[in-house]
Amino acid sequence: MTTADLFATHVLPTYARLPLVPVRGAGARLWDEAGKSYLDFCTGIAVCSLGHCHPRLVEAVRVQAGTLMHCSNLYQIPKQAELAEEINTHHVRLPGKLFFSNSGAEANDGLIKSARRFGHKRPQAGGSPRFEVITFSQSFHGRTLGAMSATAQAKIHEGFDPLLPGFRYLPFNNIAALENGIRPETVAVLLEPIQGEGGVNVATPEFLRAVADVCKKHDLLLMFDEVQAGFGRCGDSMAWRMIAPEIEPDAISWAKGMGGGVPIGAFWLGDRAIDGAGTAFSSLLGPGSHGSTYGGNPLVCAASLAVLQEIREHELAAHALLMEVRIRETVRSWKLPCITEVRGSGLLLGVGLDPARIDVPEGKTAALTVVSQLMGNGLLVPAAGPETIRLLPPLNVTAGEIDEALAILERTLRGLARNG
Ligand SMILES: *Cc1c(COP(=O)(O)O)cnc(C)c1O
Repeated sequence: MTTADLFATHVLPTYARLPLVPVRGAGARLWDEAGKSYLDFCTGIAVCSLGHCHPRLVEAVRVQAGTLMHCSNLYQIPKQAELAEEINTHHVRLPGKLFFSNSGAEANDGLIKSARRFGHKRPQAGGSPRFEVITFSQSFHGRTLGAMSATAQAKIHEGFDPLLPGFRYLPFNNIAALENGIRPETVAVLLEPIQGEGGVNVATPEFLRAVADVCKKHDLLLMFDEVQAGFGRCGDSMAWRMIAPEIEPDAISWAKGMGGGVPIGAFWLGDRAIDGAGTAFSSLLGPGSHGSTYGGNPLVCAASLAVLQEIREHELAAHALLMEVRIRETVRSWKLPCITEVRGSGLLLGVGLDPARIDVPEGKTAALTVVSQLMGNGLLVPAAGPETIRLLPPLNVTAGEIDEALAILERTLRGLARNG
């Protein structure tokens, strides 16, 4: 039986998988079972921030696996404490505390629970708790019942109603709609400063500042989903700092790139006082209020610590910005009419495609047409919606690898282009 046969027989068909069977990786390269090599600008969807099998990450996993892989959050876990200190001191740089999860959706569920706790602590005028979380069109927050309900995309909800109640969806980057959208039961605003899955859409500085102002004015929590954009990917430790660095969020979620390939996520709650007695927001999730058996175990924390220290010590966020400039300048020089624009920041970039100027087979989107053609030509990238492909190389990608990938992209797009 081939791998594809085994999938068809034994694995739920929840993913439309491409016909590629990866078996080995090194740096920005991946090999399939036939020995063909690919430049990997998908990186497991912005997960492998150091590329495949980075020696520092491999060594951290090897040592920890041979020392203590798992114990329990019943006990003090040294690597979890060190990782929390690394994140607070060097990446968030605001006073607050962390909880470790196993994925981005779980981290966002933690944010939703934190918002509800806050809504009990600071209720509506009549005394009933506030509970409603505002999220935005084209957002993506994950696939658990909570994170899916937070996601403002009908195709994600299809066939799964009733959803978790308590969300209001507003248009992204629309200040007037936000100012008119606050209700007595509203307790928080949750957004991706740079949307990933929804097509790589960057919040404008005006919008992000308006969100922060509205939160202050109405006593709402400001929550950033940095699951895809965080930890150097967008050119700063945190994506919101690329847009409006003075903003201080109340809560943040992460996953993807923070583990470099091991399953780890986290959410952070600020220490800001939320009442006259000086109660810290971060103290609302006390003993017994939340938990995860695997969350923050010694193995994944040792791995994440190695990844985040490597990103910091080698200034990979700044490197991502240099590579962004290289990509933008090269793509602009092609003057290809089938490319509408390049959106995003650092190495979370979306290349917009004009479907009228690409040969798209019946029943396929422009993005998937380009993605599968690129794969055939040795370059792996994910789509982001029907008309955008994403470039998500490792943060330590070299200029030579960027040039090689862009040469494949140019050749492929010229081959598919209609009307020039
Ligand atoms: C991928 C993603 C999630 C979900 O993360 P999982 O680890 O797949 O649960 C949530 N938010 C954003 C912005 C994402 O990109």
